[in-house]
Amino acid sequence: MRLEIAAVRKVYRGDVVALAGVTLTLEPGVLGLLGPNGAGKSTLMRILARLARPTEGRVLWNGADLARDPDALRAVLGYLPQDFGVYPNLTPREFLEYLAAARGLRGAGVRKRIDALLELVNLADASRRPLGGFSGGMRQRVGIAQALLNDPQLLIVDEPTGGLDPEERVRFRNLLSDLAGHRIVILSTHIVSDVEAVATRIALLAHGRLLADAAPEDLLRAAEGRVPPSCSRHAARTRSSSPGRSRRRSCGSRCRPWRSPPRWP
Ligand code: ADP
Repeated sequence: MRLEIAAVRKVYRGDVVALAGVTLTLEPGVLGLLGPNGAGKSTLMRILARLARPTEGRVLWNGADLARDPDALRAVLGYLPQDFGVYPNLTPREFLEYLAAARGLRGAGVRKRIDALLELVNLADASRRPLGGFSGGMRQRVGIAQALLNDPQLLIVDEPTGGLDPEERVRFRNLLSDLAGHRIVILSTHIVSDVEAVATRIALLAHGRLLADAAPEDLLRAAEGRVPPSCSRHAARTRSSSPGRSRRRSCGSRCRPWRSPPRWP
């Protein structure tokens, strides 16, 4: 199982460069795609989900170029978009049945699959309540269930924790981590804590460029010396009126403020 993103560039109308040539190769595990708003994360997710086309570059699934063979990925893809909406009058079971039918998933196995998914996302008890009364976290769990209807090999979730309370966020992350054993999961977010707990690999994106692509522990090592880990005096000084000077001055032996820029692998 292998997803290759090769020199993908995306330019929107008006010469907006959303992706400036991104190259990444993914194998099973959770990739945390981390970057500030506007970095190009959704654009990359949408290209992988075949909802947008790259201006240049290629995406290959197990060696098949999606430009020539768009169906190569469709059957094995699960996608939870950032703006996932539900029909408020339907129950989760009805909603999942509707989506399964719309995607051509039929047969006795589908009902069983929906039951299993409702258990997996911990919504079995709420399966007969209308979605309109669900919390943000419960809706996101329905979102994950719909992305898993076809038991995908590639699962893409775009900014899934926005609007969730801290407890729901942790539960959601744990669920993603459980799902990653035998598939590629891409979790796009601008929240560092979303990825540090579950990602087996982190890709840092900014202004459409890949700044880093490494294991979380390697990234932390690269950032050492840049951020003082637990220096409250330094943090207070940095908030003072002359941050430029205080940033460079150490508070003591345990404080290593921004001594060297990180060298991304
Ligand atoms: P992120 O998901 O990291 O917030 P996006 O992929 O949404 O980033 O956006 C990357 C850049 O592309 C931004 O400058 C954004 O304004 C621009 N952009 C996104 N979608 C469109 C679009 N449909 N048309 C024009 N520009 C777009």
